[in-house]
Amino acid sequence: MRLLVVEDEQTLARYLRRGLEEAAWTVDVTGTVEDAWRLCLLNPYDLLVLDLGLPGADGGELLRRVREAGMDTPVLILTARGSVEDRVAGLNAGADDYLSKPFAFSELVARVHALLRRGHEQRSAALRLGDLQLDRLTRQARRGTRSIELTAREFSVLEYLLRHAGEVVTRTMLAEHVW
Ligand code: CA
Repeated sequence: MRLLVVEDEQTLARYLRRGLEEAAWTVDVTGTVEDAWRLCLLNPYDLLVLDLGLPGADGGELLRRVREAGMDTPVLILTARGSVEDRVAGLNAGADDYLSKPFAFSELVARVHALLRRGHEQRSAALRLGDLQLDRLTRQARRGTRSIELTAREFSVLEYLLRHAGEVVTRTMLAEHVW
């Protein structure tokens, strides 16, 4: 699972990256709408964590572009703007969840899990090829009835290869997706 964090405050951005990576997700971080939009066009993210108060364009502009482009990536708004009006506006603009700062990291992780689970259920329960099966939610791999122990990185590599079964996958493609 690959997440994009759009957050301009450096200390918080580093904290988010570290915490979300510890939860075994692959995380990209950027601080502007333009850069985030470029990344969204390049990578199929599983979820966006979006700050609203950004230098230049507001985070809401990214949300608008993503939805207008027909991308159904779950978006969690993480912002200091915590009034009821702000929350309603964010959800009406197409966000899937809204968390205001300051926040508890455990709550953020729980909400990200819930959003990924929802998206996951909408897509498929598992990736399969022959007797190999990957569950993207529990991050378990099985070969027939035998379960395979994998690190988070190994799981991401295998997941990418399975998604591109039968295609040539270059080192660069793998590096861009997994690292
Ligand atoms: Ca900000």
